[in-house]
Amino acid sequence: CETLHVDTWIFLLRLIHHVLTEKKNFRRHILEINFLKHYFSVMSHGAFLCNQFTYEVAPVFVLLEYVTLKKMREIIGWPDGRGDGIFSPGGAISNMYAMLLARFKMFPEVKEKGMSSVPRLVAFTSEHSHFSIKKGAAALGIGTESVICIKADESGKLVPADLERRILEAKQKGFVPFFVSATAGTTVYGAFDPLIAISDICKKYNIWMHVDGAWGGSLLMSRRHRWKLDGVERANSVTWNPHKMMSVPLQCSALLVREEGLMQNCNQMHACYLFQQDKHYDLSYDTGDKALQCGRHVDIFKLWLMWRAKGTIGFEAQIDKCLELSEYLYNKIKDREGYEMVFDGKPQHTNVCFWYLPPGIRYMEDKEERKKHLHKVAPVIKARMMEYGTTMVSYQPQGDKVNFFRMVISNPAATFEDIDFLIEEIERLGQDL
Ligand SMILES: *Cc1c(COP(=O)(O)O)cnc(C)c1O
Repeated sequence: CETLHVDTWIFLLRLIHHVLTEKKNFRRHILEINFLKHYFSVMSHGAFLCNQFTYEVAPVFVLLEYVTLKKMREIIGWPDGRGDGIFSPGGAISNMYAMLLARFKMFPEVKEKGMSSVPRLVAFTSEHSHFSIKKGAAALGIGTESVICIKADESGKLVPADLERRILEAKQKGFVPFFVSATAGTTVYGAFDPLIAISDICKKYNIWMHVDGAWGGSLLMSRRHRWKLDGVERANSVTWNPHKMMSVPLQCSALLVREEGLMQNCNQMHACYLFQQDKHYDLSYDTGDKALQCGRHVDIFKLWLMWRAKGTIGFEAQIDKCLELSEYLYNKIKDREGYEMVFDGKPQHTNVCFWYLPPGIRYMEDKEERKKHLHKVAPVIKARMMEYGTTMVSYQPQGDKVNFFRMVISNPAATFEDIDFLIEEIERLGQDL
């Protein structure tokens, strides 16, 4: 890496050595603190000025990416961790990569000839899916109107029967279904779409199955919770954001792809000033041509380092703890006076969606009137929280549901007391509304 000072290299190697050899001697919390300290010093030493397009300029980082992606594919359940993948600038971009690959797989000529060479393509995703699927369709020239939104049930999961119905409907109109994006951990409800049923449908109609696990993919690290993604190994591609639930500092998102070589064929341009074909080393290590970017930020190092430091067990404990905290919150408010859950049953992820009804609204007879008042409650409480500077929680409406609180826990340093405080604070700031 030309931009990296020799001192930084020495520091980095020492740090890696330190993490690999001495971690057992630290008590857990000390490790966390030390880890952060080292991490930020590495940042300040400018290690990440490095650019990751070819093996020759970033040999260590290319290899770290290779082993980490392989490990992630093993966790997904692909045999021997085979397949492909890349770290991209976020889940939205990973999702777009998936859509690009699906289109190329079905119509490779689109790379040279463009959209005029292919029939009208349509993609499917649940009405609760992330907006990035539509963004991707707009960016790729497929168009947002070609993203068909499938019904979600009460708890936010895609309804497979509706998916099949809409696929048939599209085919009848002469459109070509090419992409289904199932969501593992929806952004608002934290719902997990039924992947097995969806994969059966994708197989039947020969459609690329993508799993957007930007938010929920990390649950694969937890033996207690990974069943929520049963069937993920049947997907053609998976988005997984370590920068969300695993608390890796932004940005760190991976797209994992089951088929080897597809990504290279889809995106490579063989720029002859970077990717010369007569280099003296194995060219498969020049991973940069798989990306849409030219220069690429090193996102892998922080994930790899955290993984070495905490171990899979450490990530698992951190994820389990966040889910335990959200269950605690759910249990605390589900029967509590003045609270209503947005959907029935225990949340599957750490998203807890609820209304707080101040006493003045609680007994209102007129349903419409009550809704109108309730819509204003969450924004006022949140504004007051911000004015007092005590805590913060997001809110939003969804479909015909008026503004509700959406508490999402992804900070492993959060405690049961923090949850208690949140409830006290909502009641303190909202009871006069
Ligand atoms: C957050 C999120 C994304 C987008 O990820 P970014 O890293 O913010 O681009 C995509 N899909 C889902 C389900 C998400 O929750």
